[in-house]
Amino acid sequence: MSYVIDAPTLPTLPVRGTDDLFPIHRIYCVGRNYAEHAREMGHDPDKEPPFFFQKNPDTIVADGGEFPYPDKSSNVHFEMELVVALSKGGKDIAESDAMGCVYGYAVGLDMTRRDLQGEAKKKGRPWEVGKAFEYSAPCGHLVRASDIGHPENARIWLDVNGQRRQEGDINQLIWNIPETITYLSGLFTLAAGDLIYTGTPAGVGAIERGDVMTGGVDGVGEISITVV
Ligand code: MN
Repeated sequence: MSYVIDAPTLPTLPVRGTDDLFPIHRIYCVGRNYAEHAREMGHDPDKEPPFFFQKNPDTIVADGGEFPYPDKSSNVHFEMELVVALSKGGKDIAESDAMGCVYGYAVGLDMTRRDLQGEAKKKGRPWEVGKAFEYSAPCGHLVRASDIGHPENARIWLDVNGQRRQEGDINQLIWNIPETITYLSGLFTLAAGDLIYTGTPAGVGAIERGDVMTGGVDGVGEISITVV
């Protein structure tokens, strides 16, 4: 038996302090998970249960990499997010078991073609063209929960060209990490290798070619990506 075409490369993330790689299975993203961001997008954060979309694992860009300005858009936004990496999965995971599924954490950018996403929202169409395009999921190195624990209070921030654009604290997540894992595992069978982008604080905005996006979550790490 052999593959009839070359098998695709397995996307991975480096694990800080090791030579090891974390293989990526799926990328889930949580929408509107910080109240101030929900409000800036014109929504009432108090009324909505969590909702999710996916990106493809091959849309990852490593720290220090380049984000090619995507086609068919003139309004591309950054969204700085805490990323959770799972070493175990399952269906209908109890909240008390959820943190036992977490391998570690990273910082990532949920890059968004906001104009295409806006059109999709208006027409009641899926979000893929706004969210799941190539290079749309930059992500830094993973840190193991066994090394840093499970952060509950930590500043999350993003600078563009050295100017602060986003700042919040992960303690402002509307649906915290165990709640998110539990809810998501009721909709999908989670698995080792899954990443969850947990949502972005307020301050999202557009980037241009030449911009440098640098952001982080204190105690987890930083990422720097250049728009080309
Ligand atoms: Mn997002």
